[in-house]
Amino acid sequence: MFDDDQDISAIKDGIKSLCLKFPNKYWREKDRSRSYPEEFVKALSDHGYLGCLIPEEYGGSGQPLRAAAVILEGIHRSGGNGAACHAQMYIMGTLLRHGSEEQKKKYLPGIAEGSLRLQAFGVTEPSSGTDTLSLKTTARKDGNTYIVNGQKVWTSRAEHSDLMLLLARTQSREQVEKRTEGLSVFIVDMRSALDKGLTIRPIRTMLNHATTEVFFDELKVPEENLIGQEGKGFRYILDGMNAERILIAAECIGDSRWFTDKATSYANDRVVFDRPIGKNQGIQFPIAQAYAATEAAALMTEKAILMYENGRRPGAEANMAKLLASEASWKAAEACMQTHGGFGFAEEYDVERKYRETRLYQIAPISTNLILSYIAEHVLGLPRSY
Ligand SMILES: Cc1cc2nc3c(=O)[nH]c(=O)nc-3n(C[C@H](O)[C@H](O)[C@H](O)COP(=O)(O)OP(=O)(O)OC[C@H]3O[C@@H](n4cnc5c(N)ncnc54)[C@H](O)[C@@H]3O)c2cc1C
Repeated sequence: MFDDDQDISAIKDGIKSLCLKFPNKYWREKDRSRSYPEEFVKALSDHGYLGCLIPEEYGGSGQPLRAAAVILEGIHRSGGNGAACHAQMYIMGTLLRHGSEEQKKKYLPGIAEGSLRLQAFGVTEPSSGTDTLSLKTTARKDGNTYIVNGQKVWTSRAEHSDLMLLLARTQSREQVEKRTEGLSVFIVDMRSALDKGLTIRPIRTMLNHATTEVFFDELKVPEENLIGQEGKGFRYILDGMNAERILIAAECIGDSRWFTDKATSYANDRVVFDRPIGKNQGIQFPIAQAYAATEAAALMTEKAILMYENGRRPGAEANMAKLLASEASWKAAEACMQTHGGFGFAEEYDVERKYRETRLYQIAPISTNLILSYIAEHVLGLPRSY
């Protein structure tokens, strides 16, 4: 139905062959030791995949969003996980859209070639959670610097990033007319800030995600690191959400296709009661259901991508794509686990690892309830519930 153009086909083939060099054994070992897949991230950078959305004038390949979606889907479909570096592709969008020419020239070429990593995104805080507008980290202006104090949680990849995109309060809630104002976005150079007001503590989680909590104690950030206008940061962050939702949906679709392939193959091979277990409809139907759900989610993702690429704002479509794709991948994970019986629990089959990994997407970067609230309020016109 949707034929890829030559560039996209080449990217699809390229990512497939790159991923063959990082088989499941590689991911299994990284998962076991909870270590960062540095070799994989370097290979992606070296091939220019992580800079695909950066315009050519800043050293990237200036590809459309679809290219990034194809790359991330391909990684997940191969059994790998793009979360180690996916943010390097899209966080820079805030800088690209709202940064000054000087800032873009300073950072984007390094991000495009991979010598500079901008893949840490400091938004969530322990006390505010999903309620971003209640965040408490402050950036107080003092001469030509901002002094940052506060704490972030779930700041993924902070230990593997040079720069962080930080959302902090520059005016108190009482000082602003609209709730969405008073927050500002900064680029924090973590290389110079570490142990000089910035502390990073890893959080061990049920998946290998390199996530952390970050503490700011009188951290000095030069005023030239403010992106765009002071106080408008929340809007700038929102502008990047559609791309993020679409790319996470693509990862879920990749996961889902991996689970369905794996389940189908095992169901055909495994013989119990003298016949392949796949002959039983109790085994077939959940796999078929997951397959149908995945294809539907892929269509919604395609719609969101088309709208995005045509310069429209696919708020509803990007949210629905992420919602449907994260549910489809979980359905596929469940079907795959059940099909594998006891062997689903054995590390060497990779099912339990992917099962843990794909569960995240119903919670982060935005949880299912909040997407449903968005649809209820902004699409259906129901009253705001919170
Ligand atoms: C592994 C991992 C990596 C992450 N990486 C990053 C990152 O790099 N940067 C970053 O800033 N954040 C990151 N996050 C944070 C993530 O975006 C949040 O966990 C997520 O948005 C949910 O916020 P919370 O955990 O504070 O849950 P809470 O806000 O405490 O919510 C808990 C539950 O209550 C529900 N809920 C809350 N309010 C409502 C409501 N009004 N209506 C209905 N239900 C409601 C939520 O949907 C959720 O199910 C990451 C999280 C994880 C687990």
